Amino acid sequence: MKWKEQILNLKAYQPGRSVAQVKEEFQLEHIVKLASNENPFGCSPLVKEWLSQFNESFAIYPDGYATILRKELANHLQLQESQLLFGNGSDEIIQIISRSLLKPGMNTVMATPTFPQYRHNATVEGAEIREIPLKDGAHDLTAMGEAIDENTAIVWLCSPNNPSGIYINERELTGFLNSVPKDVLIVLDEAYHEYVTAEDYYDARDLIKEYPNLLVMRTFSKIYGLASFRIGYAFGSDQLIRFLEPVREPFNVNTIGQGVAAVALKDQSFIEKCRAENKKGLNQFYEFCEKNELHYYPSEGNFILVDFQTNGDDVFQYLMRKGYIVRSGKALGFPTSVRITVGSESENEGVLKAIESFLAEKK
Ligand SMILES: *Cc1c(COP(=O)(O)O)cnc(C)c1O
Repeated sequence: MKWKEQILNLKAYQPGRSVAQVKEEFQLEHIVKLASNENPFGCSPLVKEWLSQFNESFAIYPDGYATILRKELANHLQLQESQLLFGNGSDEIIQIISRSLLKPGMNTVMATPTFPQYRHNATVEGAEIREIPLKDGAHDLTAMGEAIDENTAIVWLCSPNNPSGIYINERELTGFLNSVPKDVLIVLDEAYHEYVTAEDYYDARDLIKEYPNLLVMRTFSKIYGLASFRIGYAFGSDQLIRFLEPVREPFNVNTIGQGVAAVALKDQSFIEKCRAENKKGLNQFYEFCEKNELHYYPSEGNFILVDFQTNGDDVFQYLMRKGYIVRSGKALGFPTSVRITVGSESENEGVLKAIESFLAEKK
């Protein structure tokens, strides 16, 4: 076969162990999954209600324009419908962007560690990848700017950054946007946007008016609690969307996903409640870490990266035996840390208790 050379050594995505598998293997009755930054409170009850009344034919293709969802979302964001691009999760948006701009001879700039799909898609397209190490968990925007040259097609910014949880503030972001060439696409991944409470966080909707080379990605997978339906979106100037739209598959967002996302948007009180609970949850982790002298990054997402100064896999294994699935930092570029999704108050208490016994046994 005439495979692209760059895919020969690529590894398929390794899914974490499912709740059912862990239950069986460790003979546990109750498992708490705090590994993938899913919403511990599920989704709006309006979604279940809508689903129970869903009565359209499964034989019919989805609406390729996502008409209703597009209208609702444009209204919610106060943007034009022509400024939106929908994807089968923001994962697919990353793929659409990469297919549209990257090829051998071009390069793309990103932080490291950050969300791995930017790198993955750039590899498939054969582009050069320029990874700029985080500084104290934050994007080093100066170094990222310096890495740009005439062959740079895309710069990826993740704010708040997965896995460190650190966001980019308005002053830093506008400074960066002012300094980069106008023909470089800046992708701002805001998968955790709705969780952010920092005062000096920018409003990306204002920025796209000033910066036509800025594309913003968000998702229904995190605070909206709809990860299984795979709905992500991007917004930017209509010139940008006009180029990306033809690269999108015609029926990429399924009918039920479009329906639940439109319904979930209407329940903003659910979103506000989740944001507030998450903040309280983060404080549970902060207090614990301070008391136990564990290093952590202050997070604006629904997860926290905690450094145990020991092999992250050991912490991960220990917690799994206790019924808590977290993410080892080993695979995330922080080998002595684990990333823990903020759960409900009692889930947080539970995992912190398990961590306490890990620390006691380690002594
Ligand atoms: C979870 C996540 C995504 C992917 O979201 P989907 O819409 O489910 O594909 C994208 N970016 C970051 C930073 C994430 O953490």
